[in-house]
Amino acid sequence: MVNYKDLGLVNTRAMFAKAVKGGYAIPAFNFNNMEQMQAIIMAAVETKSPVILQISKGARNYANQTLLRYMAEGAVAYAKELGCGHPEIVLHLDHGDSYELCKNCIEMGFSSVMIDGSALPYDENVALTKKVVDFAHQHDVTVEGELGVLAGVEDEVSAAESHYTKPEEVIDFVTKTGVDSLAISIGTSHGAYKFTPEQCTVDPKTGRLLPPPLAFDVLEAVEEKLPGFPIVLHGSSSVPQEDVDIINSNGGCLKAAVGIPEEQLRKASKSAVCKINIDSDSRLAMTAAIRKTMAEKPAEFDPRKYLGPARDRMKELYMHKIINVLGSNGKISH
Ligand SMILES: [Zn+2]
Repeated sequence: MVNYKDLGLVNTRAMFAKAVKGGYAIPAFNFNNMEQMQAIIMAAVETKSPVILQISKGARNYANQTLLRYMAEGAVAYAKELGCGHPEIVLHLDHGDSYELCKNCIEMGFSSVMIDGSALPYDENVALTKKVVDFAHQHDVTVEGELGVLAGVEDEVSAAESHYTKPEEVIDFVTKTGVDSLAISIGTSHGAYKFTPEQCTVDPKTGRLLPPPLAFDVLEAVEEKLPGFPIVLHGSSSVPQEDVDIINSNGGCLKAAVGIPEEQLRKASKSAVCKINIDSDSRLAMTAAIRKTMAEKPAEFDPRKYLGPARDRMKELYMHKIINVLGSNGKISH
């Protein structure tokens, strides 16, 4: 049993309480490799932001769970080396799908886990989530549960259509399970193709697709039922069209990729939403930089020469999210 506290990691409890009170959200960035992790930590240190490093099933399959865990331990030391005396870094399991997996991650040193029972019947979701919470809390690890189903595809999580969270269920779910935070579905979606063109309207000025607005009435109803309780939004990439354009003009083919407009996420950050998950935007930033470098320098074959610019672009993206969308900059005082 490895205790995350010995690795210098923190759980989400105090971080979320402060974020809800302060009207900002903590960034939860997925990572799969060294460049992405470096970019996240550089951005968090430079902006003095707390940060959640999260690991999905796809990341565990791709990069190995043990290796990623050691990278998170390295991230704490790296943040200190970059000048942050007391970094606030959470290592979080994204979309845990079984009790065994959550238990295994907690024993490996994760400080927070998500148990996603949202596809199960309500009572089974409650029972599974409670079982994970009971084990996690023995080790002071925080747990995120989910009610409602997000559409879209991300790694191995996928659903054809979304089902908004039912506000009438949230008090019962939180009370029965003891979860520390709740992911809800209000119209965000996994992946870079969040909406079909039929679901969108066309901006007459730019000709770009405009997605349907998030269901803020559902969010407000949830907040009314659970005042001050930490709420989480998954699938909250904005799919920057500059990156889509760079990819498409350098040999790529992303058609009608649409995300959540940043002004809607800005609005959500000011509410009880205290964790916003962003993965696709980082993938797009990385791909755009690599495609551009390879197109401009076709003779280059040193991976550092294209992964370096990719890291720079991801760092820029993370800093932009922290400062201009989530508002978590300057929240680490020491
Ligand atoms: Zn998710």
